[in-house]
Amino acid sequence: MGKNYVQGKSIDQWKKENPLLEQVIMTREVFWTNPQYVRSSDRIITTSLSEADIEDAEKRLLRFAPYIAKVFPETCKTKGIIESPLVKIEKMKKDLEVLYDQEVSGSLYLKCDSHLPISGSVKARGGIYEVLKIAEGIAIEKKLLVETDDYTILASEKCRQLFSTYSIVVGSTGNLGLSIGIMGSVLGFKVIVHMSSDAKQWKKDLLRKKGVSVVEHDSDYSQAVEAGRIQAQQEKNSYFIDDENSQNLFLGYAVAGKRLKQQLDNLQILVDHDHPLFVYLPCGVGGAPGGITFGLKTVFHNDVHCFFAEPTHSPAMLLGLMTRLHDQVSAQEFGIDNVTDADGLAVGRPSGFVGKTLEKNISGVFTIEDQRLYRLLRKLADSEGIYLEPSAVAGFPGPVKLFAESEGRQYLEQSNLKSKMKNATHVVWATGGSMVPKEIMSHFYNKNQDGKDLGQRDRFIVPKK
Ligand SMILES: *Cc1c(COP(=O)(O)O)cnc(C)c1O
Repeated sequence: MGKNYVQGKSIDQWKKENPLLEQVIMTREVFWTNPQYVRSSDRIITTSLSEADIEDAEKRLLRFAPYIAKVFPETCKTKGIIESPLVKIEKMKKDLEVLYDQEVSGSLYLKCDSHLPISGSVKARGGIYEVLKIAEGIAIEKKLLVETDDYTILASEKCRQLFSTYSIVVGSTGNLGLSIGIMGSVLGFKVIVHMSSDAKQWKKDLLRKKGVSVVEHDSDYSQAVEAGRIQAQQEKNSYFIDDENSQNLFLGYAVAGKRLKQQLDNLQILVDHDHPLFVYLPCGVGGAPGGITFGLKTVFHNDVHCFFAEPTHSPAMLLGLMTRLHDQVSAQEFGIDNVTDADGLAVGRPSGFVGKTLEKNISGVFTIEDQRLYRLLRKLADSEGIYLEPSAVAGFPGPVKLFAESEGRQYLEQSNLKSKMKNATHVVWATGGSMVPKEIMSHFYNKNQDGKDLGQRDRFIVPKK
């Protein structure tokens, strides 16, 4: 197949069918709304999973809560439930409005998964959940545990001994490896993490200190995952956590839906047709934003609107949804290099099932330039005193672009929401950062902050049509 063809169709033909694709290929920032999105239904429409699957995951996390509280004392105050704060960020909202020269109707909140206990990123939801599920399965099968037990017995030497005869293998750009490595090694598993070239040194160092084997690859995420898959197949008693396809990871993330509802209730924030909820989620392979979207949709149905954010150089989910090829397409096939400082989002090929499962539920995807990530990182630090890693600020342009971009305004019109936006709640999902070492955070804070060029580009977001 010639290099100008993708899945048997010329790139020119793909562009004709998707006018925004030209901009995507040129790695310009875009705001895309999903034509497959379904507004009319008040039930979540998916192919494979149901609300019962999320409830099963919730119950499992509750069974494990006493164990988590025991082995991670920082979770004692939440009784072993791994959850993060939802905070109003009024100062940042004003700064965003100035930076982009665009008013944002409604109020702005930050969901601080950056500060989730244990591993300091959104992966503390899915990654830890899947490790717990594996451990539970083994312990029950070996008759060391029944579901009604006090799960703190899993911290016993007998259980750790059992788990040490099993290995868990995963491919990662960093944070998934961190979550699975920390949780797996505390339980007693042998953990092997295949890290892509994007993975930051401090994440590898931290894992090695915890006794995790880290295999470094010169290649990108997809190949690190592939290497993990092959290794797991060759080893006895080995579990492979498949970030590209795992329903367990997805369900671990989905638990966030009801948890967010509880937090909104506590803050007396109403969500209904007259009070829409907008959520902006950084996206790599799609598992985390997808799972969270699934959870939110089961709770709020069409009163929640979920937009994914990707780096301009790694628009994996955007291309998968836009072409409807899902995991049959990669950014590289469209000539996009998948090179970004946003290591958590450095994924060229999207998940094999998230896009297909949620095709009708994802409202849209927008992209963001790396330099702008640093700018937003510093703005948030200055305005709110919250420090995130670059990937984790990718959601911030969402609430602005929803109003500034023609596709965003059209989305609001078609959803009959224009007059209701003053009642809207915008939640930017902060996906990581609290474990970044101080000197590295200071480097992030000081990066790319100079130059008038960037300031001008910030004001240059409405495409000239
Ligand atoms: C992994 C990650 C994401 C995205 O999750 P995916 O499941 O890969 O889509 C977003 N932000 C950070 C910081 C991450 O580590």
